[in-house]
Amino acid sequence: MGLVIHHELVDKEKAEKLVEMCPFGAITYEDGKLDITAGCKNCKMCVRKGPEGVITFEEEKESAAVNKDDYRGICVYADSDHGELHKVSFELIGKAKELAKVIGHPVYALLIGYKTDENVKELLSYGVDKVFVYDDAALADSDIERYTNCFSDFIENNKPSSIMVGATNLGRCLAPRVAARFHTGLTADCTRLEMKENTDLVQIRPAFGGNIMAQIISPKHRPQFCTVRYKIFNKPEKTENPTGTVEKVTVRPEWLNTRTEIISVEKKPKELDISGADVIVAVGRGLKKA
Ligand code: SF4
Repeated sequence: MGLVIHHELVDKEKAEKLVEMCPFGAITYEDGKLDITAGCKNCKMCVRKGPEGVITFEEEKESAAVNKDDYRGICVYADSDHGELHKVSFELIGKAKELAKVIGHPVYALLIGYKTDENVKELLSYGVDKVFVYDDAALADSDIERYTNCFSDFIENNKPSSIMVGATNLGRCLAPRVAARFHTGLTADCTRLEMKENTDLVQIRPAFGGNIMAQIISPKHRPQFCTVRYKIFNKPEKTENPTGTVEKVTVRPEWLNTRTEIISVEKKPKELDISGADVIVAVGRGLKKA
């Protein structure tokens, strides 16, 4: 909760006293409304020394832990910006299968887009247990609000334990939005993932400028979200006889409400892309003639 303004106790005199008192200029009083801005440093001077009861500090209530047994499955978001599946999705499927073995969970792929049949086949060929498909003409362009609504519906109805998203432009827009809707944690740009037997996903990534490898878990929340960059994990072999199933979800009109109007989409001309290179040779100022 943090700082709370009790507006019923505010009058002009008290408000002006608070504005003057805040050492960081974070309190404003405009048009008869007292407000605390983002400049607040939480020093709580206004609580301790301000007019009694006008601003109080309320401790955050600790949220109850979810029942982990209610959540099952490791889901890979199949990144298909404008219909083109990104290869990071296959790499994540490989890792998801490895992690799922530890806890005996199924591996899902979530595909959102339009005219998805070919992509569904491709995902099944990498051995996922089930592909959930949200296919609609209105999802042809990657409108982030619509995608967030479909993604949220998938979570509400299927309760996956962990969700892995490629750290692509689309994935980086989508994952935090969905994670925020479910009040759960998200670890960006993981470089290693491990699974505990209690289904906690250990999300490992460099922190503090690369000086430590942080191990991050979400012990009280589900689903557990992480993003992973392309080329961190290996792409698995395709299976010759896919056995996975497909669930096509009917897209509801209310999920397509959006405040974004996509006027046109122009593909950037292909540039030399080094993100997919196996070897990069870099030289710098230190290079000298032998
Ligand atoms: S907590 Fe400190 S910084 Fe924040 S509004 Fe109060 S006095 Fe200003």
